[in-house]
Amino acid sequence: MNVFKSCFSRDKEVVEFTARSSMIISPVSGRVTEIDDPNKDVWREQYSSGDQKDKSRIPFWNSGFSACPKCGERNMDRFEERAGIRYNGETYGTEVFMCKTKDCKWSTSFKFDDANTDNWHSETAGWPRGILHFPNTYLLMWADKHKLPPTVKHQIFIQKLDGNKILKLLEENKLAETLKTNEKMVKRIKKAIDDRHGCILLH
Ligand SMILES: [Zn+2]
Repeated sequence: MNVFKSCFSRDKEVVEFTARSSMIISPVSGRVTEIDDPNKDVWREQYSSGDQKDKSRIPFWNSGFSACPKCGERNMDRFEERAGIRYNGETYGTEVFMCKTKDCKWSTSFKFDDANTDNWHSETAGWPRGILHFPNTYLLMWADKHKLPPTVKHQIFIQKLDGNKILKLLEENKLAETLKTNEKMVKRIKKAIDDRHGCILLH
């Protein structure tokens, strides 16, 4: 075998090996075999399940996926189902959230994609950060987080105020009157509302 020929055959082996290893780490979406995925993870096409209404999903997302918008408990379970993996190792699929509170049964799902660095959940792109659609239970947790005084929390509780009502009262300059407080306190509440990450209700 001359030098030229031996170089050529070695190159061929390398090419074959590379092609085989790239096949193993990059299965075709929706057609994943046990050889592709030795961990036998669940692979499913992206889907939507459970409650898909903005009115519950926007506040749930703003809570940091931590509290159930139906029962108000911080009792959420989650799992991911991948739909595929790209040549660069990025995966995409569906993330499902389920409330574990007895008899609540609230659930939702979000499609995710590692390629979307700004919005891992593509469906949440452009959603507003804040207390929009917050139910009363969320608002009480939010008031706790921002250390609002018991008198303010008491009014939020007894008047069953939600995020939308607070935003409306603020717009109409009626917040001080409704919460039986002063303008200084309203300024503090407004600061809490404007805090982009202040709506996240994680412990
Ligand atoms: Zn629940």
